[in-house]
Amino acid sequence: FVNSIDEFFSFCKENEVEFVDLRFTDIKGAWHHLTYRMSAVNAENLEAGFPFDGSSIEAWQPINKSDMLLKPDVPTAFMDPFTADPTIIVFCDIYDIYKGELYEKCPRSIAKKALAHADEIGIADAAYFGPENEFFIFDDVKFVDNINEAGYKVDSSEGEWNSNTDFEDLNTAHRPGTKGGYFPVQPTDSMVDMRAEMMQVLEQVGLEVVLGHHEVAQAQGEIGIVFSDIIGAADNVQKYKYVVKMIAHLNGKTATFMPKPLYGDNGNGMHTHQSLWKDGKNLFYKEGEYGNLSETALHYIGGIFKHARAVAAFTNASTNSYKRLIPGFEAPSILTYSSQNRSASCRIPYGAGEKATRIEMRFPDSTACPYLAFAAMMMAGLDGIKNKDIPIGPMDEDLFELTLDEIREKKIPQMPHTLRGSLEALIRDNDFLKPVFSQVFIDTYQSYKFERDVWPDEGRPTAYEFKTTYQ
Ligand code: GLN
Ligand code: MG
Ligand code: MG
Ligand code: MG
Repeated sequence: FVNSIDEFFSFCKENEVEFVDLRFTDIKGAWHHLTYRMSAVNAENLEAGFPFDGSSIEAWQPINKSDMLLKPDVPTAFMDPFTADPTIIVFCDIYDIYKGELYEKCPRSIAKKALAHADEIGIADAAYFGPENEFFIFDDVKFVDNINEAGYKVDSSEGEWNSNTDFEDLNTAHRPGTKGGYFPVQPTDSMVDMRAEMMQVLEQVGLEVVLGHHEVAQAQGEIGIVFSDIIGAADNVQKYKYVVKMIAHLNGKTATFMPKPLYGDNGNGMHTHQSLWKDGKNLFYKEGEYGNLSETALHYIGGIFKHARAVAAFTNASTNSYKRLIPGFEAPSILTYSSQNRSASCRIPYGAGEKATRIEMRFPDSTACPYLAFAAMMMAGLDGIKNKDIPIGPMDEDLFELTLDEIREKKIPQMPHTLRGSLEALIRDNDFLKPVFSQVFIDTYQSYKFERDVWPDEGRPTAYEFKTTYQ
């Protein structure tokens, strides 16, 4: 790993690098790349940036203002573990040559601005994020190819049939079945070697891997990674998804981070652990308080909850996201906090000391662009600190047991139930984002999401509707 442009070139020489792969993230979180010959890369263009056509990236530039620059962030360079020829990958920010500054629609730049903002207003000089991205491994075929009475028939590596199919008839006792994945040994767990390969390659690309395990749903997995600063953590999500998808692909499988691929079984979250620090001190820690949480931490949670409906437009960025946020599957819908409780939107990991005290937001999922999701949560949290917002809670009971009447009676706010709901909330509630998300960006984001996700989904009959409308 390299720290300077000089080190970059000596590293490339040592490793006989043939190609320099420049990577950047669009507003939906997809990773894009462009590959230069090593011979065409020099200190000048690494410094000045590389041109590309910004009009061909969704929701970015119009065709008549399409020239943009990729600015390599050289210390992020690492070897691509999958290419046949030695290739070095470098994370890039997008530079707007017309305005002479970082591009207002570049998610990675927005996350950088969010961290700078926390420092400018004097609240925090460091922000640590620990995302947990869950995934499914399916056979490399079309996911949903049929529907039966109970739900979808799905081909997965651990069962060709979904949870509602009769297991006895099919002699599939060794399959995990619905919520049966956490976590019997092999052969019920059929993903051991694949996860091991993923963990090893994740380390090769610079992530600090702690563990891997089967998750609750059939064919579901997770690999635990050590937290990082806000930019590093979002970069790590991009690397993680790349490695998990590539290893699955090389094994003839497909990995998906889709929030709710299987009806009736757990979905995929991107729980996000967070803490703010200043002058080397964890601002979220106060010994002896509930969960060892400081007032600052409570205000931060309060801010996220107050703006959660708008924040969800970034943290739960797909129509499918909201199929996960229903009671009964360890995914939250109720905006309260609790130590230990996995039915609350915010869990305080139990018994953490001064360094490790943090909050875990449980509603985000991997359809979020990680840079935008982390920045939006942090901006909401900072707003909560400024306004001394207080979240409802703690609530230590099983919240999945609450009836709607009880939820209304206790006036507990809930997550939105659709992407439309989140986007409409974002249109009304975005002042808290303004110091770093421009109005142009917010307008672009919401209209892009309506056009690409909401309207096509709302106008599309589903297989299940064939059943409910046949009366
Ligand atoms: N899969 C669950 C979710 O959707 C989380 C399960 C867990 O990590 N305990 O958030
Ligand atoms: Mg986990
Ligand atoms: Mg998990
Ligand atoms: Mg978790």
